[in-house]
Amino acid sequence: MIGHRRLLDRLAARAARDEVAHAYGIFGPRGIGKRTVALRLAQTLECGTHEAGGCGTCLSCRKIERGVHPDVRLVTRAGDRKLIGIEQIREMREDLALRPLEGRWRVVILDDASELDQGQDALLKTLEEPPSHAVLLLLTTTPAALHETILSRLQPLTLRLVPPAEIEEALAARGIREAGRFAAASAGRPGVALALASGDALRAERERVEAELYRLVASGLTDRFAWAADLADESDPRRRAEAIDVRLMHWSELLRDATVAARGDLARPLRPTRRAETDRLASSVSASDLLGATLLVERLRRDLAFNANARAMLELFALRLPYAPGVRPA
Ligand SMILES: [Zn+2]
Repeated sequence: MIGHRRLLDRLAARAARDEVAHAYGIFGPRGIGKRTVALRLAQTLECGTHEAGGCGTCLSCRKIERGVHPDVRLVTRAGDRKLIGIEQIREMREDLALRPLEGRWRVVILDDASELDQGQDALLKTLEEPPSHAVLLLLTTTPAALHETILSRLQPLTLRLVPPAEIEEALAARGIREAGRFAAASAGRPGVALALASGDALRAERERVEAELYRLVASGLTDRFAWAADLADESDPRRRAEAIDVRLMHWSELLRDATVAARGDLARPLRPTRRAETDRLASSVSASDLLGATLLVERLRRDLAFNANARAMLELFALRLPYAPGVRPA
């Protein structure tokens, strides 16, 4: 976890003395780490070690991390619904009434508690007479949206902004480059810093996959078939399908740009950062060959969804991809 260490230490010390409230309000802006603090608090309570944040390695800690602990329930908006349904709160109450199965407590994490609507009344009943083993963690960015009757029954935990240096250090420890830049841009919210960093990781992956196409275009058949064999070799079918799909997704746009450019008019490229390669490809391959390759990629993406033979598909692509030795990327 990034930041909020002292808060967790304090809660762990109290838990060790058996001073656990039945309901906490975990407040703070988006990306500050409310969900993570809630999980760590659940781990603190259920882990046998009484360590702040849990030991992280015992079965209980790992189950909570993976969201499969039978005594720790996350209640959140389902799918694209705007609010947490009243039936979700009823179900939560029935669940909470039962004794814990594996741990000492039954923990409910409600995220975001301001999205309850009429569920607030049902929730209030639980807060008024909580089962002795119940701990509710109500997360929200806007505590003011909670009824006063609910708010008054919560022990408030307001998360403070995390110092940028602490975020930077944590990002760097995770092997993220330019950690300082992301930390500064996050304005004290670790979740924002992580989201920015993962956006960068996605960008890096895209660039890698784009360069792979140009390398293939510049390669002869032997290298292309070796590439197809490598990619088809992944034994986990889902990972293989994902690896192929991410390539075809990026490549269909690159080939589409080259096709349009070969016809002499690329006003709005889908991949402006690859303008140089697109123009080189367009000037060395005919528009109809590029169009053929673009359509083939589209077809392969469709076929992939029906579990077509990956190796055969990739070899077909290797055969039909135009050859243009001059577009090898820098
Ligand atoms: Zn543990």
